[in-house]
Amino acid sequence: MAWADYKICDLCGDSKVFYDADIRDERYQATFGEESRYDPIGLKAICGECNKTHEVVIVARKSLSV
Ligand SMILES: [Zn+2]
Repeated sequence: MAWADYKICDLCGDSKVFYDADIRDERYQATFGEESRYDPIGLKAICGECNKTHEVVIVARKSLSV
């Protein structure tokens, strides 16, 4: 299966996370492909190897500002 058919790890950027070629939801499709500033769902995922040492955490955006 082609690399582009998978959601790629948002941490290492070097591993497939899950097969996404069949996901037709336009909100998901807006998260990849041609460069876009539109990110309607904010989906983040990490691969099994990164999941051993890291986790995905949801926080309010304002808490990220400095
Ligand atoms: Zn990874």
